[in-house]
Parts: sequence; structure tokens; C-alpha cells
Amino acid sequence: MPVTTVPPPARSMTPVETARVAAAARAAAERWRRVPVGERSEAVSEVWRRIYQRRAELYKVVHSETCKPLVEFEAMELCPTDLIVKYFASNARRILEEAPADKSWIMANKRAFVRWLPRGVVGLITPWNFPFLIPFGDSVPALMAGNAVLIKPSEWTTRTMLWTADAVQGTGLLPEGLFSVATGDGSVGRQVLQTSDMVLFTGSTRTGRAVAQEAGGLLKPVVLELGGKHPMIVLRDAAVPRAARAAVWGAFANCGQVCVGIERALVEDEIHDRFVAAVRAEMGRLRQGLGGTGVDVGRLIFPPQFERVMDQLEDARSKGATVIGGEVADADNLMIRPALVLGATLEMKVMREETFGPVLPVMKVSCAEEAVRLANDAPYGLAASIWSADLDRAESLAASVEAGMVGVNDCLSHYAVPSLPFGGVKSSGLGRRHSEEGLRMFCSSQAVLTHEWPASMPDPWWYPYESWKSRLLEWIQRLT
Ligand code: NDP
Repeated sequence: MPVTTVPPPARSMTPVETARVAAAARAAAERWRRVPVGERSEAVSEVWRRIYQRRAELYKVVHSETCKPLVEFEAMELCPTDLIVKYFASNARRILEEAPADKSWIMANKRAFVRWLPRGVVGLITPWNFPFLIPFGDSVPALMAGNAVLIKPSEWTTRTMLWTADAVQGTGLLPEGLFSVATGDGSVGRQVLQTSDMVLFTGSTRTGRAVAQEAGGLLKPVVLELGGKHPMIVLRDAAVPRAARAAVWGAFANCGQVCVGIERALVEDEIHDRFVAAVRAEMGRLRQGLGGTGVDVGRLIFPPQFERVMDQLEDARSKGATVIGGEVADADNLMIRPALVLGATLEMKVMREETFGPVLPVMKVSCAEEAVRLANDAPYGLAASIWSADLDRAESLAASVEAGMVGVNDCLSHYAVPSLPFGGVKSSGLGRRHSEEGLRMFCSSQAVLTHEWPASMPDPWWYPYESWKSRLLEWIQRLT
């Protein structure tokens, strides 16, 4: 029997079981919305502190589902969560404060302000690549905004969220059901969409479209965080040592299963050979294994990814690319060696489709303008990066890149700056997580307009429509 570390997918809850979990979330939401935002933030922060104290246990569970290296778990699951909790805990009150509205003098006798009301139950439908960070990290602002969360983790990484829900419940700090988990496949995801007041969906563009269509029919607010094809633009004046190490980390971190991960390098002619040599040297130092310590690159998490990566590499080879690495290290454990694809062209799937695996295709370009044109020649627009010694030029070039997030001499770090909006354009999604926008999206705004004085008088634009009112309105418009 082959030894495999890939657990089977979770059992799907029946519709009755899912409805029961959703009802518990709804009941909890009713109580929670009445708790002041400051108290909500403190409670969620304390829940996180207690989970953090149990991080060794959490790693065991995440490792059992993903085989992530320990440092990767710390750097990419724990640290960003901590930064998210701290950002929202420090800013939630300010962001959700009632704000007076600007108004004209003709409304001087009225009070106008905006308040932010929780939506109720927020459905979080999440993928398998970051089984803790994505669902828990998105729960933080949703809960601080006064909602309950109903989480549908990927059926391939369900244990992590079941462990987390148990840990949250064990703190006794949140009402029962406020942090609820519905387990199973896409059918459970659909029910979560139907029973929630809003959904934040993170996953593939294909499923995202189906979710958007269904949400449209139900007129439910939905935010979509979808796939990407990060173009790394390396200009001739880039610092090669940093750019090469970034390419290797940015393409192979989490075994390439990062939505903002580097998926193609567009390198100016003049620097191409030096860049490739440095990348190869760096790749030679990578240690691959089934997680734990002393390992840099782990394995694929989702079984169908194995075929997808192998198919893209075969397609590249058959179209003339040179593939360095990319051998099957351990098929039973979904382990493929990191691959560098040289001589990549636009005809190759590896340059056009999301790979979501440890593959770095490199293509020569003649100038920065060509690089930007090729970067934009993709359906996706999530993350991109520009590498150059001229920071001003790179930042200005970034404005021409169709991407929700751009790094200059930087990659994969936007999640660690939660004051920045995180999300994509084109087929990479709709809406943004994080930042002020990413907290307010979990609320509906309520615009309040209160007539203060004179208490008994009608407003002049009400009935009856006498002719003197036309002159009055004209006069008002001239003065405003
Ligand atoms: P999928 O789209 O396959 O699945 C995402 C989630 O949706 C899973 O929980 C899945 O359930 C569920 N689901 C499937 N069908 C439906 C449906 N009809 N209605 C509601 N929910 C459904 O994505 P993956 O899990 O394969 O994740 C990888 C993708 O996620 C990549 O494309 C990656 O780029 C993207 N991603 C985007 C991020 C971003 O922030 N932009 C961050 C991380 C990943 P189940 O899997 O259990 O069947």
C-alpha cells in the first residue's frame, strides 16, 4: 500500500444539518449585534490570543491536511492573522463610527449621518491553500462588525476549521454558534450562500462565476476573491540577487499554491541570463519534504492539482520550452519538484492559465512597455510586481498594470499590511478584503436624516405645488 499524507475529503453535512448550523449562527448574530464594537473587538482579540497560545496544536492539524513547513505556517498563516487582528482591533471603532454627512445650508435644520449596521450572518466560503488564515482572518473583521460567521471550508482542509471552531467555543468568550462551520462540498457551499445575508467567497474563478450568478438571483451581496496569474516584471536595472530570491520564494512558497504567487516572469533581455543563473542557484538550495522543520517546499494539497501541474509542464515541453526540475518526487504524496520553464511563450498554458503549483515560467521581453503589455494580456488581474532600481519609474509603471495589487521590489506581502485593500480586477474578483473598505463591507450603511426644527412646519417643497414655489426653488438653486 502506498503511504500517503493526503487525507480524504470531509463528509458533506446533510441539508438538515447545515440548516441547523445556520440557525445557530443566526440566533448568535441577534445577540452579538447589540454588543458595542469595542467589546466585540476585545473579545475577538482575546480569542485569537488564546488560539495563538495553542499554535503548536494548530500546526499539527494544519500539517495533517497540508504538510506545510513549520516556518511557512508561522509566516503565512499565523503572522498575517496576528496583523489582521491588531489592525482591526485598533481601527474598528473609528471605521464603524457614526459619521455626520456633508449637507447644503437648505438642510441646516436637519441632522444627517451614516451608521454601519451588521448584515447578520456572513458566509465565508474558503479554499484549501490557507486553511486557517483565510477563514479565521476573514472572520475577524466580520465578527468585529457585529455579524456571526458561517464558514464553509474546503472539503480537503476541514479539520483545521473544526479544530478552530472548537478552540473558539472553548474560550467561552463568544456566543455559541457565532463562529459556525458547515462542512462538505460545493452543495454545502450553495446552501451557505442561500442561508447567509452576505458571502465572501475565496476560490477559483470558475466557481466564483457560479457563486456570483446564484448570488445575483438571490440579490445577495457577494465579494469574490478569485484566481491570479502574477506577472513579475524584471527590468534591466533590477537588483538581481533580490529579484531572483523573490522569484523563487514568490513562485514556490506554499508549493506555489498562493493566489498572489508569482506565476510568470517577464525579464528584460539584457538581464535575462544573469537572472536565470541566480534563480537556478537559488533553486538548487531548496529542501523539499513533507513539512516540519528543515524543509522549504512542501507538497500539493488538492489531488487534482497534481494532474494540472503535470499537464502544464508537458504542454510547455511539447511546445519547445526547457523545463528544469518538475520531476515527480512522490506521486502518492502529490509532490512535484519546483520547476523552472525557460523559453516560455504565450502559446503555452503555463503562461496563460493559473498553475497554482511550483512552476516558474520565464519569458524574455525587449522593454518595459512590452512587459506591461504582456502582463495585461491575461484574464486575471490580482497581483503583479515590478523589479527595478528606479522606484519612481516602477511605481509610475505600476499604474499601467491591470492588477488590484502591485509590489515594487516586493511580492506576496500585501496580506501582511491589512490597512491595504486586498483584491483583484478583471476575472480575479469583485470587492476587497482588509482596509476600511473590507470592514465596512460586512455592514450595510444606514443613512439617517432627522428633521429638527421647526417641529410643526412642512418643508416648502411639499404639497401644495403653488407657483411661488418655482421661484423659491430657483432662488435656492442660485444660492447653493
Ligand atoms: P474552488 O473554487 O474549487 O473552491 C472554493 C470553495 O468553494 C470550496 O470551499 C468549495 O468547496 C466551494 N464550492 C465549490 N462549488 C461551489 C458552489 N457551487 N457554491 C458554493 N461554494 C462552492 O477553489 P479551490 O478550493 O480549488 O481554491 C483554489 C483557488 O482559490 C485558486 O484559483 C486560487 O487562486 C484561489 N484563491 C484566491 C485567493 C484570493 O484572495 N484572491 C486566495 C486563495 C486562493 P469544496 O472544495 O469543498 O468542493
